[in-house]
Amino acid sequence: MTWFNFILNRAEPVAQNIFLTVGDLQIPVAVIRNHRARRYLLRLRPDGSVRLTLPRRGSVIEGRRFAERNAEWLGRQLERLPAHPLRPKQWLVGTEILFRGKPVKIEAGVNGESGLIRFGGESVKANGHGSDLRPAIERHLWRLAAKELPPRVLEYATLLQLPVRQISVRNQRSRWGSCSRRETISLNWRLIQTPAFVRDYILIHEIMHLREMNHSSQFWREVERACPDYETAERWLKQHSSLLK
Ligand SMILES: [Zn+2]
Repeated sequence: MTWFNFILNRAEPVAQNIFLTVGDLQIPVAVIRNHRARRYLLRLRPDGSVRLTLPRRGSVIEGRRFAERNAEWLGRQLERLPAHPLRPKQWLVGTEILFRGKPVKIEAGVNGESGLIRFGGESVKANGHGSDLRPAIERHLWRLAAKELPPRVLEYATLLQLPVRQISVRNQRSRWGSCSRRETISLNWRLIQTPAFVRDYILIHEIMHLREMNHSSQFWREVERACPDYETAERWLKQHSSLLK
């Protein structure tokens, strides 16, 4: 195979997602050009994502018409898919995610063409080439958390009269927060997904470690004094441990 053929044979994404109306759902569709394809192809993958393949001389406009003609077929295929798992790997339009403690549905924006996604009063540009909206939404949640969590920590630190030197909001896989002896508090951005009382409990818990670098009964007494319903928060975290992998 020559280099030229190799380039031509490659399947490549040609545009951002298009959105296809299927029943009352707006389904994001990843558009791919494949120079070896003889015709337009619409495919539902087992994970629920949808791909539209354009042939060599095909256009996105023609592809969209083709997809629209096959929307009913796609709807039937979608119904046949096994129910979304509780914690779907992919986030698609229609997927429910936790935001500020409440389940909210991911929805396509009014001008879905430009790749705008909405959930819980937020809107996010989802310009990726795939149909999984998770990376774009997670980035947005992380940004929100980085903006909202540090001032909240400083408020509590002042209230509890414990100096915090540095606060970072990170992407930890296994913990909600941590506190180092250098007076640095690290928080998980997923705290933006928990209810306010749970988020506040974690902040107080980590700040309290500035006084007690352990989980002694003395530590828990201090936590309880500052956060009387901390056990309810701990229960919520156990029930939602799947938020952390
Ligand atoms: Zn702790």
